[in-house]
Amino acid sequence: MQRPGTDENNVQMSDILCDFCRREWTMERPMVEGHRGSCICGDCLRLSYSALVLEKQGNAPAGYLCTLCRENRDEIGWVPATIPADQPADQPLAACRRCVNQSAAVLAKDKEYGWKKPQ
Ligand SMILES: [Zn+2]
Ligand SMILES: [Zn+2]
Repeated sequence: MQRPGTDENNVQMSDILCDFCRREWTMERPMVEGHRGSCICGDCLRLSYSALVLEKQGNAPAGYLCTLCRENRDEIGWVPATIPADQPADQPLAACRRCVNQSAAVLAKDKEYGWKKPQ
């Protein structure tokens, strides 16, 4: 997501926030973009990848809406342990396994960041 009030004509790295933890995009904290400007950071991706892909444990409610692909998903999904305080109550956060898998593959391929999938 973009930081509220971002100048559309002059978007900085620090204006791009992870939808799941609201932290900024930095070289140490890479981001992967989903649909409609949604983003997940490398840290949240590590947590969600460990849960959904390695441990095969989801904590999203049945039929949740994935924040990244904007689809209602039946497979297991991840919800962050701490929901950002400014997240609207009628827009619950969740990441589906497919998005987490794809995002991890994208980030792991980008040599610039040196991000690795959890083992
Ligand atoms: Zn994050
Ligand atoms: Zn998804």
